Amino acid sequence: MSTETRRKVVIIGGGFGGVKTAKMLAKANVDITLIDKTNHHLFQPLLYQVATAALSPGDIAVPIRGIFSKQNNVKVLMGEVVEVQESAKVVRLNDDRLIPFDTLVVACGARYNYFGNGAWEKHAPGLKTVSDALNIRERILLSLEKADQIDSPEERQKYLNFVVIGGGPTGVEMAGAIAEIAKRNMMRDYNNFSPDQTHVYLVEAGPRILNGYDEDLSDKAVGMLEELGVEVIQNKPVTHIEAGKIFLEDGVLESPNIVWAAGVEANPVIRTLDVETDRVGRAIVAPDMSLPRHRDIFVIGDAAYAEDDNGKPMPALAPVAMQQGKYLAKLIKNPAAYDAAEREPFHYLDKGSMATIGRARAVADIRGFKLSGFIAWAMWSVIHILFLIGFRNRLHVFVEWMWHYFTYKRGVRLITQRPTKSETELDVDEGEAFRKGA
Ligand SMILES: Cc1cc2nc3c(=O)[nH]c(=O)nc-3n(C[C@H](O)[C@H](O)[C@H](O)COP(=O)(O)OP(=O)(O)OC[C@H]3O[C@@H](n4cnc5c(N)ncnc54)[C@H](O)[C@@H]3O)c2cc1C
Repeated sequence: MSTETRRKVVIIGGGFGGVKTAKMLAKANVDITLIDKTNHHLFQPLLYQVATAALSPGDIAVPIRGIFSKQNNVKVLMGEVVEVQESAKVVRLNDDRLIPFDTLVVACGARYNYFGNGAWEKHAPGLKTVSDALNIRERILLSLEKADQIDSPEERQKYLNFVVIGGGPTGVEMAGAIAEIAKRNMMRDYNNFSPDQTHVYLVEAGPRILNGYDEDLSDKAVGMLEELGVEVIQNKPVTHIEAGKIFLEDGVLESPNIVWAAGVEANPVIRTLDVETDRVGRAIVAPDMSLPRHRDIFVIGDAAYAEDDNGKPMPALAPVAMQQGKYLAKLIKNPAAYDAAEREPFHYLDKGSMATIGRARAVADIRGFKLSGFIAWAMWSVIHILFLIGFRNRLHVFVEWMWHYFTYKRGVRLITQRPTKSETELDVDEGEAFRKGA
């Protein structure tokens, strides 16, 4: 086939779905343009470890160009897509460049959902990007520094409180890791307070944490979190958030360290497509992941709503995005299957899910086989190391984890944004002021 007739495949997003699609098209007779607003592919499942000073950003993020340096049919483009123009078959970037496509794969992921309370975001940041993780890490470390300098116990206490909102896997992992910092890892380095003065709260609006798991595993997770010193508050929706304060139905928690992990909504790019969406804005796709009214446009991963063979919504997990990417690449590579009036549908193979809780505990549900404690954690560790991209990252993360396992020490405790004299208060407005002045 001549160069002119090669299909132009544009992929929006260099996350799990986008990278998998492009990699699986390595030998295909297509020209791929992979667009991402960042220059790196991020392994989001380990972001909480960057936020809690266990790993560095470079351990879990790799340059997208590096992934495709040996794949000649991929052009990597750093840019933010703001619109898909379906009839013209182009995507528009925020600098108004137009990128034409024959086939479009939208794999732009999701973002945090504040359920109509967008103003909460600046007080309770979510954990989605490297900068989110560094921002949260900095708040935690600054808060401990501040607590070390305040003599009044009442005034000091709020800097020793940490609140994670949302009891899904991210919230559980984050709360467990913060408890390790606040109760164990770093405590001997501070003189002005003791571990029992620190409080880590995990707030869940629903009746139980990890509600996608079996009830038994949710209960075990509560037990493991409590052993680590986390106070698990279930059945308590957050009613309001302002700088340093979280309001529940029956009380207020005071803390400058609030992390939001309570739900996601689809990326705004989806709104520019001619497609029905679910209640969190994900594109409701056909069984082949295409738009029902446009068979050359596909949406995969966290941006798509699709149902599995049992009619259950597919979860927003990395394996779902990767399996969909693999399926699409196979379809694109095979013109007969691609052009068929009825395409073979995508089938999701659920290999299980797991969430880790602190240094050596986890819960796992592997195709109905339930595990908890150290064995689940060992499995979680092996799987996460295997899925990291790059041998250097795998080796480095493995060494860091071993070091942490045996020494309890966290390696990456750097505060890089220097507060000015009167700006060490961590209330968000002031935190922003010192960032601007930094
Ligand atoms: C903190 C956290 C922990 C998680 N833990 C787990 C876990 O333990 N196990 C698990 O299976 N899943 C986990 N997930 C979910 C998993 O990361 C997602 O399901 C997966 O990343 C979805 O893949 P995706 O390709 O749809 O999107 P993503 O991987 O999010 O990739 C989207 C990409 O699109 C880019 N992008 C976004 N908008 C634009 C735009 N307008 N223009 C250009 N580029 C754009 C982004 O920069 C990003 O690179 C976690 C998620 C988070 C946030």
